Amino acid sequence: MSDLYAVFGNPVAHSKSPLIHAAFAAATGQDLTYEARLAPVDGFARAVADFVAVGGKGANVTVPFKEEAFRLSGSLSERAARAGAVNTLVFRDGAIFGDNTDGAGLVRDITHNLGFSLAGKHILLLGAGGAARGVIAPLLGERPAALRIVNRSAGKATDLAAAFSDLAAEQGVAIDAGSFEATAGQAFDVVINATSASLSGSGLPLPAAIFAPGSLAYDMMYGKGETPFLGQARAQGAAHLADGLGMLAEQAAEAFFVWRGLRPQTATLLAELRRTTGA
Ligand code: NDP
Repeated sequence: MSDLYAVFGNPVAHSKSPLIHAAFAAATGQDLTYEARLAPVDGFARAVADFVAVGGKGANVTVPFKEEAFRLSGSLSERAARAGAVNTLVFRDGAIFGDNTDGAGLVRDITHNLGFSLAGKHILLLGAGGAARGVIAPLLGERPAALRIVNRSAGKATDLAAAFSDLAAEQGVAIDAGSFEATAGQAFDVVINATSASLSGSGLPLPAAIFAPGSLAYDMMYGKGETPFLGQARAQGAAHLADGLGMLAEQAAEAFFVWRGLRPQTATLLAELRRTTGA
């Protein structure tokens, strides 16, 4: 019988994870089945227990269950502990191990797929929700010169910067935080949008001149056509634009590695995803 994996979410029907992991399994010759499982908003733990009972070996977790998956995990990877959220579960010997591959996916997309080194760079991270929190440690691990976190509710950005100040100091990175307005007059080599503003079609109150010459604007959001943030970045002179489809493929490849010990190539899959989504 094939090894069984799933993605849990609510909603989950739109998830591309079953397609992605089926492609990885075919490409690497792994015998596994991967399905989408809709969990009731108040029934995540029960849904996971039912899945383990039928032999589930591992799972991905998406909105709105990443924090609950964190709490459900008996042990955690260091990056999941730092993120306070889990997107990858491993079920082994009656125990649940929680990991978070989102940040590794973002960093690999930027450094490997886009060929943009983060070392020594000035990075601006927009947003202070779960996605932002999950990528900070992996970003610091690339040893940029500085990381600034900006959020609509500026206090949340300040709290996040404080939570990662020890790690930033270890890596020799200057970390700070504030509001959009207080960022006027500063320029960055990489600006990452981890807000959900693009989901509702909204732009962001970006100060003028935040994009340094040769800069990369990266939107974690993806979809058909250019996102509002990437439209703003283009108008403000960002040299390179990227959406989050590569991050999606890379976080999945990292989860596949956690489960199977093999890292699938993502280039062919990414081209196919771009063709089918029009992104
Ligand atoms: P959360 O709900 O946890 O956080 C939302 C963030 O967006 C908060 O910082 C919030 O600010 C901010 N925000 C929302 N609306 C606006 C607005 N109109 N103007 C300014 N700021 C706004 O969401 P997540 O962190 O989980 O997800 C964020 C994004 O990242 C989503 O678009 C998601 O799809 C994407 N994502 C992509 C992944 C990928 O693989 N490509 C993986 C994970 C996430 P405030 O605190 O002030 O409310």
